[in-house]
Amino acid sequence: MNKEKYIKAADETLLHTYNRFGVVWDHGKDVYLYDTDGKEYLDFAAGIAVNSLGYSNEAYKNVLKSQVDLLLHTSNLYYNPPIIEAAKKVLAASGMDRVFFTNSGTEAIEGAIKAAKKYAYTRDGHAGHEVIAMNHSFHGRSIGALSVTGNKHYQEPFEPLVPGVRFADFNNLDSVKAQITDKTCAIIMETVQGEGGIYPADPDFLAGVRALCDEHDILLILDEIQCGMGRTGEMFAWQSYGVKPDIMTVAKALGCGVPVGAFLMTQKVADQSLAPGDHGTTYGGNPFVGAAVSAVFDQFEELQLLAHVKEMTPYLEQKLEELVQRYDCLTTRRGKGFMQGLVCTLPVGKVCAKALEKGLIVISAGADVLRFVPPLVIEQKHVDEMTEKLSAVLDEM
Ligand SMILES: *Cc1c(COP(=O)(O)O)cnc(C)c1O
Repeated sequence: MNKEKYIKAADETLLHTYNRFGVVWDHGKDVYLYDTDGKEYLDFAAGIAVNSLGYSNEAYKNVLKSQVDLLLHTSNLYYNPPIIEAAKKVLAASGMDRVFFTNSGTEAIEGAIKAAKKYAYTRDGHAGHEVIAMNHSFHGRSIGALSVTGNKHYQEPFEPLVPGVRFADFNNLDSVKAQITDKTCAIIMETVQGEGGIYPADPDFLAGVRALCDEHDILLILDEIQCGMGRTGEMFAWQSYGVKPDIMTVAKALGCGVPVGAFLMTQKVADQSLAPGDHGTTYGGNPFVGAAVSAVFDQFEELQLLAHVKEMTPYLEQKLEELVQRYDCLTTRRGKGFMQGLVCTLPVGKVCAKALEKGLIVISAGADVLRFVPPLVIEQKHVDEMTEKLSAVLDEM
């Protein structure tokens, strides 16, 4: 089938919830994707911060292939070895004590909120607790996750959402303080806001929120779904802040393409929150995703990806800064590690579309930010190729 036929068939079958770019992917190799016409594209989006290992990690793929032959799924009524291995690895990497595996990021958020509510319920014996979330945050599309997503446009058609959510301004401690009541059980935020436009938390802000939580017996939930798994040069972004959450969510790159998420918590929270019967999932943490998560952690170690990201970040930042100097339409660079944004005064959707024409995959974040979340295995030459291609795009616009 040619491209037009695929697109027509998709338009006649799939629910129209995405305005997709007119590209049909066929396969990937290294850090490149190829469409059905055989055209090559340098990937600086990684399937939205998912494909951190790129497309040619044979060790990872071989683990998946073996697990397909061995066992895919058994349900959570029994034990399975791969997920136990995966649990050990994610706990060792995070310093958290307990993990629950989900199938997506939004489900990890749901679990995190339930854990926080149950913790507060266990401690003070009544329901009706509130959560503080941030404006311009993104935590997912299910009703619970949407309720803590500070974006009116996403929320409005689906109201009423879960009650008891108050919104504060990210990086504004006073605005968080102003929302605390005696019912507050948790403060939820991304360590680096992704969809909202690539805003890292200020160290003082995050430390201040941690202190507020400690003072009021409130749980700090850090959403590391996009910024976690090595993207900032630490396994989890909060690890560079000297601040530890009580509950953390992970997904996206956790399986590097195999759909899996997780919420993790400290022993203190685990002891007083979700108990048998409180939460569950049919697929969550099945042997297949367990093998994938385990293999991802093994490859991070094998390839020394954290060190690689740390080493490459100054070069990526420098090249992006040079673009800001060179083009009036680019006003600011911000971000951490391999999670970078350029504020752009041109329509970002058009820039992304034009970049695709030139064989470069970049995506937007919010209304006016070009987002760069490449596979973590990119090298200098890929950064150079990206800047050349993006320059060609901007020269033409
Ligand atoms: C993508 C994302 C989610 C939602 O994850 P899904 O797997 O799409 O449900 C939640 N939080 C953040 C920060 C994200 O980037």
